[in-house]
Amino acid sequence: MSSVAAIGIDAGSTTCKLVAVDGEGRIVGSRLEPTEPRVEVQVQRLLRAIRAELTLTGELPTIATGYGRKLIKDATRNVTEITCHAKGVFRDLGRGGTLIDIGGQDSKVIQVGDDGRPVDFMMNDKCAAGTGRFLEHTAARLGVPVEDLGGRALCASGEEPISSTCTVFAESEIISLIAHGADPDDILRGLHRSLVGRVISMARNVGIVPPLMLSGGVARNEAVRQMISEATSQDVVIPREPQLMGAYGAALLGGKA
Ligand code: ADP
Repeated sequence: MSSVAAIGIDAGSTTCKLVAVDGEGRIVGSRLEPTEPRVEVQVQRLLRAIRAELTLTGELPTIATGYGRKLIKDATRNVTEITCHAKGVFRDLGRGGTLIDIGGQDSKVIQVGDDGRPVDFMMNDKCAAGTGRFLEHTAARLGVPVEDLGGRALCASGEEPISSTCTVFAESEIISLIAHGADPDDILRGLHRSLVGRVISMARNVGIVPPLMLSGGVARNEAVRQMISEATSQDVVIPREPQLMGAYGAALLGGKA
C-alpha cells in the first residue's frame, strides 16, 4: 500500500468523517459515523481506528473542518468547510463551477474557481429548510429510512405541494396531509421540491456557473439531484464520495497534493 500523507477530519453537525490520503491525493482509508455529543472524544477513537487499520506510526498532518472543527485538539490546524469542500470536489471532478453542498444542518453554494479555490459563497446555517434535517424530520414522521427518501419521492404518482418554508410549520402541514389521507410518497415528492426550491434560490443569488456540482450527505439522495437538474436545466455532477468531500479536501490541504 502507498504511504499515507495526511488525514482530514470533518466534524459535521450530523456526521463525523475521516479521510486518509496518500502522496498522490488518493483516498486510502475513511470513516463515517453519526456525530456523537463529545465529537472530540469520537475523533480520538476514529483516529486510533484508522491509524491501526493503515498501520500508521509517527505524526501526520491532520486537518480539521466542519461545524465542530475548533474542538478537535488532535488536529494540526483547522480550515473552513468552504475551502475544504471546494478543494475536495475540484480534485475529484477536475474542474471549477458552482458547487452546492447540502449537509445535515446547513447548505452552501460555493463558486469554485479554475484553481480549486472558492471565489464566492453563500451559506444557510440559520434555518433547517434547505438542509438534510428538513427531510429527516419527515422521514421520521413517515417511518421512512433516510436512504429510501429519494427513491420514494421519485416513485410518487402525484405531488403534494408543501407551502411552508419553515421546518416547524412544514411538519404541521405534513401531519395535516397525513390526517387527510395524502399518499406519503406524494408528500415526500413535495417536500423534496420545497428543499430544492430553497437551495436553487440561494444558487441563483450566487450565480450558476456550469458545471453544477453537488456534495454533502444529501447528494446521495437521487431525487434531490434530479430536481436540481430539472429546475436549472443543467446536468448535476456528483463526486464519487459526496459525503466525504469536506474531509477529503482537508486531507488534501494537509498532504499538499
Ligand atoms: P454534516 O456534514 O452537516 O454533518 P452530511 O453532509 O453528512 O452532514 O449530511 C447529512 C445528511 O445527509 C442527513 O441529514 C441526511 O439527510 C443525508 N443522508 C445521509 N445519508 C444518506 C443517504 N444514504 N441517502 C440520502 N440522504 C442521506
